[in-house]
Amino acid sequence: MSTFKAPKGTYDLIPPDSATYLAVREAIAAPLRNSGYGYIETPGFESVELFARGVGESTDIVTKEMYAFETKGGDRLALRPEGTASVLRAALEANLHKAGNLPVKLWYSGSYYRYERPQKGRYRHFSQVGAEAIGAEDPALDAELIILGDQAYRSLGLRNFRILLNSLGDKECRPVYRTALQDFLRGLSLDEDTLRRAEINPLRVLDDKRGDVQKQLVGAPLLRDYLCDACKAYHEEVRELITAAGVSFEDDPKLVRGLDYYTRTTFEFVHDGLGSQSAVGGGGRYDGLSEMIGGPALPSVGWALGVDRTVLALEAEGVSLELPASTSVFAVPLGDEARRMLFGVVTELRKVGVAADFSYGGKGLKGAMKNANRSGARYTVVAGERDLADGVVQLKDMESGEQVAVGVNEIVAELEARLS
Ligand code: AMP
Repeated sequence: MSTFKAPKGTYDLIPPDSATYLAVREAIAAPLRNSGYGYIETPGFESVELFARGVGESTDIVTKEMYAFETKGGDRLALRPEGTASVLRAALEANLHKAGNLPVKLWYSGSYYRYERPQKGRYRHFSQVGAEAIGAEDPALDAELIILGDQAYRSLGLRNFRILLNSLGDKECRPVYRTALQDFLRGLSLDEDTLRRAEINPLRVLDDKRGDVQKQLVGAPLLRDYLCDACKAYHEEVRELITAAGVSFEDDPKLVRGLDYYTRTTFEFVHDGLGSQSAVGGGGRYDGLSEMIGGPALPSVGWALGVDRTVLALEAEGVSLELPASTSVFAVPLGDEARRMLFGVVTELRKVGVAADFSYGGKGLKGAMKNANRSGARYTVVAGERDLADGVVQLKDMESGEQVAVGVNEIVAELEARLS
């Protein structure tokens, strides 16, 4: 062991478990790729100001959790705590919205960083796969994203997740509600921090997880009762579209989420097997964000699903993904000449697309066969001096145990045929 360990709140993805992470990322991306979303990748850090303006000055993410630093050149940067602000920044910078093809639909996958108190399911480095549909106000787009998230989780075999849905209103109706909520909150006995939050961002108080706060919030005015007609109709349409798609959801009038940019549709995917960190993914509409970061009005909607928590959800449900064996053929040479010949066979196999690996380090038959077993390969190809003299290799089927001699010149074609 080295003297160094992974930093607090982080962990390494190592084989074989890392294969599950890759498969989860791919399973989440598949429905997006299939629905007109193009892949986007942005830098791991951005100007601090982008997140301060985009995510919100008063959010925990910006005030407490950001890895912000000053570069030697004097730039104030931060490791990205979330994906939406960066993706929108990149889309605006590349003028994707001007190509006359709205909405611009993008998906991404990567690492995110938040200086949080680590616990199970909550890390300082985590990964998300996300999607953003930029530049269209259409309830079908909100519905599409919710349906695709549902499809992603179902394709992984998850069942015990729920979709919570709410509308946060728009710039017409939310301010009215905000005032009503503030009036209500001022009458409660709350600690100073929470009272301050009630002044800056009262909706966030609804999200307070503490029991004594939640108790006092019974009877708080609900945004649902303040929605303007346009927001009500929009939300109703979203609900109908996802219902018609056979996706079940729960109305959660208190769902607010931790980011300031949301308007209208907000939703969260929660999993009941995860304890306190139950949100596996979340998203919503952010019609004002583009203007907040200096762009034109571009109503948009998106989500991000957490890969780490999705893997925990799979564990909680006892689902193990059917991962294809990483190695189909394992080659075991006995002696230098056999090594040269079999190394050539392995190179050929790889060229034709057969996953093949090799026993390195001049191991004896016993040790090499142990490696072959561990590799999960369906076939082992063994060759020694005698085989070379006869112009053959020994092909062993690791499932049946059956072994046959195959000509050196036929082995690649034989394995290709058997594995197809
Ligand atoms: P948020 O941007 O906070 O809505 O996060 C979206 C998703 O990312 C969450 O539902 C989680 O699955 C995941 N996530 C957010 N923060 C963390 C974290 N600190 N550790 C692990 N996963 C996280």
